[in-house]
Amino acid sequence: MVSFGGLARKIFGSSNDRRVKSMRQRVQQITALEKNYEALTNEQLQAKTAEFRAALANGKTVDDLLPDAFATAREAAKRVLGMRPFDVQLIGGIVLHERGIAEMRTGEGKTLMATLPVYLNALEGKGVHVVTVNDYLAGRDAQTMAKLYNFLGLTVGVIGHGMDDDQRRASYGCDITYATNNELGFDYLRDNMKYERAQMVQRPHHYAIVDEVDSILIDEARTPLIISGPLEDRTDFYNLINNFIPQLSAEDFEVDEKAKTAIFTEVGTERMEQLLAEAGHLKGEGLYDIENVAIVHHLNNALRAHTLFQRDKDYIVNNDEIVIIDEFTGRMMPGRRYSEGLHQALEAKEAVKIQPENQTLASITFQNYFRMYTKLAGMTGTAATEAEEFGNIYGLEVVEIPTNLPVARIDDHDEVYRTVEEKYKAIVRDILEAHAKSQPVLVGTTSIEKSEMLAERLRKDGVKDFQVLNARYHEQEAFIIAQAGVPGAITIATNMAGRGTDIQLGGNLEMRVQRELADMPEGAEREQKIEAIKADIAVLKEKALAAGGLYVLATERHESRRIDNQLRGRSGRQGDPGRSKFFLSLQDDLMRIFGSDRMDGMLQKLGLKEDEAIVHPWINKALEKAQKKVEARNFEMRKNLLKYDDVMNDQRKVIFEQRLEMMDSEHLTDAVTEMRHEVIEDMVALRIPENAYAEKWDIAGLKEDVAKTLNLDLPVEEWAKEEGIAEEEFLNRIMEAADKAAADRAERFGEQIMTYVEKSVILQSLDNLWREHLVNLDHLRSVVGFRGYAQRDPLSEYKTESFELFQAMLGNLREVVTSQLMRVELVREAAAEPAPELPVMSGSHIDSSTGMNDFDPDAWAEHQEDERIIDPSSRDASDPRTWGRVSRNESCPCGSGKKYKHCHGAFD
Ligand code: ADP
Ligand code: MG
Repeated sequence: MVSFGGLARKIFGSSNDRRVKSMRQRVQQITALEKNYEALTNEQLQAKTAEFRAALANGKTVDDLLPDAFATAREAAKRVLGMRPFDVQLIGGIVLHERGIAEMRTGEGKTLMATLPVYLNALEGKGVHVVTVNDYLAGRDAQTMAKLYNFLGLTVGVIGHGMDDDQRRASYGCDITYATNNELGFDYLRDNMKYERAQMVQRPHHYAIVDEVDSILIDEARTPLIISGPLEDRTDFYNLINNFIPQLSAEDFEVDEKAKTAIFTEVGTERMEQLLAEAGHLKGEGLYDIENVAIVHHLNNALRAHTLFQRDKDYIVNNDEIVIIDEFTGRMMPGRRYSEGLHQALEAKEAVKIQPENQTLASITFQNYFRMYTKLAGMTGTAATEAEEFGNIYGLEVVEIPTNLPVARIDDHDEVYRTVEEKYKAIVRDILEAHAKSQPVLVGTTSIEKSEMLAERLRKDGVKDFQVLNARYHEQEAFIIAQAGVPGAITIATNMAGRGTDIQLGGNLEMRVQRELADMPEGAEREQKIEAIKADIAVLKEKALAAGGLYVLATERHESRRIDNQLRGRSGRQGDPGRSKFFLSLQDDLMRIFGSDRMDGMLQKLGLKEDEAIVHPWINKALEKAQKKVEARNFEMRKNLLKYDDVMNDQRKVIFEQRLEMMDSEHLTDAVTEMRHEVIEDMVALRIPENAYAEKWDIAGLKEDVAKTLNLDLPVEEWAKEEGIAEEEFLNRIMEAADKAAADRAERFGEQIMTYVEKSVILQSLDNLWREHLVNLDHLRSVVGFRGYAQRDPLSEYKTESFELFQAMLGNLREVVTSQLMRVELVREAAAEPAPELPVMSGSHIDSSTGMNDFDPDAWAEHQEDERIIDPSSRDASDPRTWGRVSRNESCPCGSGKKYKHCHGAFD
């Protein structure tokens, strides 16, 4: 019987097959060229790059060049890397060139596949970005593939976390740049805060290939990338608002515990308006005026802090600080803070020190960052389950690339236990069973905590020989995971840990050479040692094969099928045997979601005894259904985030474009004059409304505005006395006077200085106002959610009001710029001052799987270690993480007296 899902897959599969088939013909075309290219000398092969570039200059397109460029890259890979890209890699390369997502299984060689379209597109000289999930992978891939690119005459750069702007600019200037999504986004935002084009580091966004594209464009897209800087102290403000709340009575607000919302009623709103007005904090007419967005946001937070958050249940007060208690695990989370002022509201409530806030200086979602590329493509082992999202949001079509060799892995049905306890018992038993026959085991968990828990259990059962990975120290973990295919290895890893590193049965030659022969110079002895390692690996591989290959044992199902597939896919690479199995219990989160109560009863009825498992295809299907539901919900969440971000994105585009235009222009007088004129028009219209009787004119007000904004003392009141003076006469005279003052100033300053001054004033004012605007948008966004009771759609409300805020900001900008430029004076004939410094900034991007900040300095520990600059005296003997890179022959920093290679640096 064919299920509907299977049927759909058949249809999907067949159209996929047709696409792949059509590409096979083109691959044959490339393969047909192989003979010719093999006959070329190295010099002739290398000369192809210049030939292709000349062809492009003469009107050929990259599409025209594809067969020859791919053939060139293939031949070069054979010569320099000793690998001949398989036909399926060529197919994937074509998909990437044609803006698709190549779904290719783990271990099939995506890194090499990408070099083909990278080479082809880099010929255009506009820069190609290869995007990886972490710094370690960016460095590794750049380094291995640089051999190929350099051979073909192309330059390669890599962006590392600690780099300064000059290094970054140089790397972005290369034909090909390897970088993480975080660094790319961060540089983009920072670039758009700079004051001169020359300070910017990135070039326009031409072509990007995103590796592990599902992680970056789907998982990481759940949270935006934010750059922030410290904000001034607002302790008094928080305390003021905090004091309002205890003055409220029950009729003033409504609390919904379940939905975790607390809102003011109409009476409450009026009460707040009154209190704010008394304190002199109410702007405009009422609380829901757009000027009060920030205040409403803080009022809401204060109300929530008092009504929804309980001391010693949701948080504790410790050492003058609020420490969050995780609602699921019940653990304290020191250092974690609630967002956007809520934490400060709690601090005010508990009368502890109010910690300084950070202000968002700029932010972007990865969706919007990557949509800027003229051409975007991606690759991963798992994309098909999310094909709809890739299509909808990025316009990227997923193409499943067949494996080079048939997959020989056996995927067992899920094994379901009644309790977590029984499940873990079974897991440990299975691990030990596999271990006893030397089968390497990779145990996948859904969180670091669960990995640690399992490790603890194994230790209790006397197993010591295992490794735990938690996606924090990418370089070390890459080595560990690369060895996870050695017979008898037990590796416990979260889903994300060791991503991008291939698990080869028997171990990884390159990794071992790198580690074991680090200090050995090139030469015969080294070659000999390499041969010895090779032989060792071959023996180990045989043993691992005999034991059935890598056994992937998953301790839970993830909420997304894609992540489960990723885990499974780590076994059975390139036709190797392997096995995978998921262990579940009715107490797992996912099982609870789809009503395990009923199932529990059923299992009991069936007479399931303790420690017995049920295995049934029905369960797999039911789970898949539950996963699909969760996936759909998460997709909605991301779409929603994007809808809001799109509003800001449109505004950001306008601002950044304007900024660039200003930065580049050599002449700003026209723009400045236009701004000034608009300001004057608004000013006059306000004080002398059209068709109003002369008695209604606010002449004193006009005079004041002219003085304040234009820095001019004009006899406006005299003009008003003139018989029958027309309204536009005011406008004309003020404009004339202002233009003259501006012209005089320009004359005094000289054109060059004037332009410089105008530019600085505009850019700085724009930046300040834009940052304020971002904060307002943030606040607006949290506020619109609370207006639900008025039956309005929060998103459309947000759109309308953010547009109003944007307009207001532009009006403000014109005024600020005009007012400043009508006042500047040259103190001396000073040489142009250096451009203002950028504010202190830090990046943050919350990884939605770990909840940790990717930019957290801790997470970068391995890079600091990498620099070999650690002063040995600063090493902590008891903590190997503080040692940096230790030379193999050095005495071990732990103080044992043994050489490092025989102590902590020993390979077991
Ligand atoms: P993926 O990213 O698809 O999981 P990798 O790019 O890490 O896979 O490659 C896996 C392994 O396969 C690497 O060791 C790589 O050197 C090897 N490999 C890739 N392509 C080829 C090829 N055409 N011939 C031989 N080995 C290859
Ligand atoms: Mg890879």
